[in-house]
Amino acid sequence: MGHIGIRDLEIFAHHGVYPEENEKGQTFFVSADLYLDTWQAEHTDDLTASVHYGIACERIKRVMTEKNYQLIERAAGEICEDLIQTFPELNKVQVRLYKPEAPIEIPFGTVFVEACREWKDVYVGIGSNMGEKEAYIRSAIDMLSDIRGVQVKKVSALIQTEPYGYTDQDVFLNGCLKLRTWLPAEVLLTFMQEIELKLHRERKIHWGPRTIDLDMLLYGEEIIHTERLSVPHPDMKNRRFVLEPLDEIAGWAWHPGEKKTIHQMYEMLKKREAEKS
Ligand code: ATP
Ligand code: MG
Ligand code: MG
Repeated sequence: MGHIGIRDLEIFAHHGVYPEENEKGQTFFVSADLYLDTWQAEHTDDLTASVHYGIACERIKRVMTEKNYQLIERAAGEICEDLIQTFPELNKVQVRLYKPEAPIEIPFGTVFVEACREWKDVYVGIGSNMGEKEAYIRSAIDMLSDIRGVQVKKVSALIQTEPYGYTDQDVFLNGCLKLRTWLPAEVLLTFMQEIELKLHRERKIHWGPRTIDLDMLLYGEEIIHTERLSVPHPDMKNRRFVLEPLDEIAGWAWHPGEKKTIHQMYEMLKKREAEKS
């Protein structure tokens, strides 16, 4: 991976919590680190293979001056998101926003905040066993791709499967998606839950009938355990309706807990199932 650095871009702007800061304005400095694969640019000498740092500076200036924010955290986040959305070559953006004239009574050098956005590959299991199952699944995929910071990269074949856990219900249609996102895992989960609600998901019976279920299976190679989220999804190694479609689109993907590829996990599940029958 290569790296383009911009240091101390000087911009006069009007961010701040105090009204006089919004009226008078002050000088800010922005440093940005843009991470991308520079191999092509290194070997072709062609600007279109890289990111034009002049245009990146213009975009930073525009974000800094077109709106006034109270917080430099907000401004730094907006700059990161604008850059990572504008330049598809970027894998990661880190921005430091300095405010050397901040209203602090004690003498100081400078203050700054840092924001970061990075694309991650995320796999999501999707399922439905009520009404127009395929239409629910297609709507959920469309709604995911409409979220700023989410790209739907792959959709597996949809397979019909028998209910899991609570068996007195209609058969399921299941599949898996590959997303690319710079949203943090919990923020993505919130969007997924909003989509479930919009598509009339109700939770009456655990593992019961549902118009749509969106489960986060893998978030990069991260292991996450919070009150709302367990990733990798704790039960995926036992679920053919997850591993079969996931093997189709990401057999080589790494499960950081099992320390196996998805393909290895799928083969092991099939072996266990064959031994049982
Ligand atoms: P299962 O997760 O075993 O497939 P389910 O999908 O039917 O069961 P839900 O009712 O959709 O379960 O979700 C129950 C809770 O699980 C949610 O409130 C959510 O916060 C939590 N959760 C934990 N980890 C995940 C994850 N990886 N993906 C989605 N939800 C998760
Ligand atoms: Mg589920
Ligand atoms: Mg779920």
